[in-house]
Amino acid sequence: MNKIVSATADLITSLGMIIFVLLMTVMAMIFVGHGLYHQVFLKCMTPWQAEAASWVLSFGVETTVLVITCNVKHLSSNKLPLFFAICSGFIVLFFIDAFDFTQSGLDIAIRWFIGLLVSGVNYVYSELFVKKLSDAKQSADLRFEIANLNQQNNSISQELINTKSSLTKANLDIERLVEYVAELETFKKDQLDKLKCPYCQTAFETVFKLSSHKGVCEHNPKKGQKQSIFEEHLR
Ligand SMILES: [Zn+2]
Repeated sequence: MNKIVSATADLITSLGMIIFVLLMTVMAMIFVGHGLYHQVFLKCMTPWQAEAASWVLSFGVETTVLVITCNVKHLSSNKLPLFFAICSGFIVLFFIDAFDFTQSGLDIAIRWFIGLLVSGVNYVYSELFVKKLSDAKQSADLRFEIANLNQQNNSISQELINTKSSLTKANLDIERLVEYVAELETFKKDQLDKLKCPYCQTAFETVFKLSSHKGVCEHNPKKGQKQSIFEEHLR
């Protein structure tokens, strides 16, 4: 039920509905305009000329009104819809003899009421149409902008994911490098320890220098004695 109500509300407030009503008033005004122009043209044209000219003029005038209403923002004056609404009112007033003051007061009042109503409806709908059209364009622009922003957001998210994965890979590489460095340090320390004299802890550049030193080291309890190869290896 709520869906039907909201769909009806959407239809009533839609741009399509305004265009439909605007077209109905334009079509009605084509007939009214034709009637008025025909009465005038008959006085100076043959009947077929008056008929053709009044249809063409009425159609032309109402199409002009419609085109001007739709494109009012491109014109220097936005009072044109008001001017055409007043003109429509006068076309109706002349057509229904509202200026024939020999009629009863009630008849004249009814005719003037119809003329004013047509003017009012024309003006209100042309204003409404222009505002609704600009709203529709604005909302289409906003939708386009939102789609653009979403696309940008998606590409930035993808970039972020890529960067995160690169960062994780870099972190793993760093951890591996740190392990290598630690291993290298241990290896270096071992190698340096092997070049130290076990008695006085003096470091030597080569194994040969260390070997020749060990025999004469001040702290070597067996200084001056020949050491076996086995003992030498143990040291
Ligand atoms: Zn030594």
